[in-house]
Amino acid sequence: MISKEMAAGYCLKFGQMRNFPRDMPAAFGELVLAMECSDTEEIARRATATFLDNADPETPCPMPRNIREAIYAIQEPVYEAPRPPEPVCPDCEDSGIVGGFLGGPRGIWCDCLSGQKLKAKHPGELDAVNEVYDKLTARLGKKETTRELLARIASERRTLANVTQILSSIDAGRQQ
Ligand SMILES: [Zn+2]
Repeated sequence: MISKEMAAGYCLKFGQMRNFPRDMPAAFGELVLAMECSDTEEIARRATATFLDNADPETPCPMPRNIREAIYAIQEPVYEAPRPPEPVCPDCEDSGIVGGFLGGPRGIWCDCLSGQKLKAKHPGELDAVNEVYDKLTARLGKKETTRELLARIASERRTLANVTQILSSIDAGRQQ
């Protein structure tokens, strides 16, 4: 809210407009009350300008409701509700990878934005994971590979690099 004095100052700018409540203190007070809804002077200034910019002496003085509407139209963006989250990609649930290393088929980059971003960030990583995964499944079978991977991945962050590392360490352990 701006002060009554400041709001009155802006309302006086309507003085040249038709039906301005010149000798009606109560009516002028209602205009001021409406103008006080401005959060900042800048908003009061802009709201006032919406009436004055194209006004001529025949333009009627805004009513309190008009002033409030003008203010809220400007202020609204300030109070914009937080945006709903972007829709989650149905193919990869925004992981960027379709399929994957956890028991499913080999992973491929998703076509969505998450997939493109991840691919740009870790270009060779998915191939590396798949390569180790293929090697392991060829030797241990898919079931055993998945079991080992799941057992280790619980305590690690599931990133591509980590999965590659974990798979490699399983591979190394099995070769001994
Ligand atoms: Zn996706």
